Amino acid sequence: MTPASATIDAPRVGIHLPLPFGLRRAAKRAGEIGAKTVQVFVDNPTAWARRKSPPRGLAEFRASLAELDVAPIAVHASYLANLAGPDPTFRDASLDVLTADMAAAREYGASIVNVHTGSHRDTSIEEGIQRIAAGVAEVLRRGTEDTAARSPDLVLALENAAGGGWALGTTIEELAAIAERAAAMGVPDGRLGFCLDVAHAWGAGVAMDDPDAIDAWLGAFDRELGLRRLEMVHLNDSRSERGSRTDRHEHVGAGRIGARGLAHLLTHPRLRSVPFVLETPGMEAGYDAINLERCRALIAGVALDPLPLAAFQLSRRAAASGPAEDDVEAKPRRRTSRKRTTVKRTAGSNPTPRRRAPTKA
Ligand SMILES: [Zn+2]
Ligand SMILES: [Zn+2]
Repeated sequence: MTPASATIDAPRVGIHLPLPFGLRRAAKRAGEIGAKTVQVFVDNPTAWARRKSPPRGLAEFRASLAELDVAPIAVHASYLANLAGPDPTFRDASLDVLTADMAAAREYGASIVNVHTGSHRDTSIEEGIQRIAAGVAEVLRRGTEDTAARSPDLVLALENAAGGGWALGTTIEELAAIAERAAAMGVPDGRLGFCLDVAHAWGAGVAMDDPDAIDAWLGAFDRELGLRRLEMVHLNDSRSERGSRTDRHEHVGAGRIGARGLAHLLTHPRLRSVPFVLETPGMEAGYDAINLERCRALIAGVALDPLPLAAFQLSRRAAASGPAEDDVEAKPRRRTSRKRTTVKRTAGSNPTPRRRAPTKA
């Protein structure tokens, strides 16, 4: 097996790294499978409560990843955060959880925090865009006010959406409108970036299986936003129909998008410096290594082997959560369960986040 770094002129490819079995084991696994970049949850992605202190072993985790040349580190923010919604209570909680994830990201040495653009909840696209931009400005302002955690290099990256449940950010035009509004509020371009989730773009109707359509998408992104603001690609195949506005991730090259489109992205000359992160099924069942290897094959121009039937029958319940709790202080507070119930009823962009968490990031 050839690690991606040994391949000349290849982008950094890695995975969403599960942490529930401990940071030491996670770092070891990143090395074993040759991940060159990783994304993590710093806490339970479907809860509001945030740990009060960093998990044990974080310094060693950072040191191990640095030694393994795993970079950049990205943090996927809580699924519950919705900067686009109209409900003030939900919005405050979203700002708080995202601020906490940004602060934790600094502890992890991360340079990117990606968050879903969110749902305008049947108000209007215009109002939703306004609220996202104001939310971004607020979260970044809070981050820089905390002098102990000052880190101007930490970028908040908005992730494109498949489009279900009044989700915003399904088109480049919407992403550009958010960027423009945020800039007008004083957000520096360098602090607000974007993440392309290939499966989400597919769900939103973009033909990610077609090299010409991919080039057109990248060209439009470059014109509207500038490719340097594309912080990360989530290289997920999809088991959903194109344009279905649904999002079900699939193994690399084994879904409806397929090898041709994904290979085009992985070998795209304009994406050489963009980290690629896999959020594919079965990370804890050995498919982390298999899907990374499939990416290397695509970069090398090698045809992919078919996957066994078992690959498509994996439990959707495998834990893709943050690091395990390791002290009493880190236990969720009482109000968590109440808020969680509220969210289950109101979150439009992601009606069943807990069940889908493993493959929906
Ligand atoms: Zn997704
Ligand atoms: Zn995501």
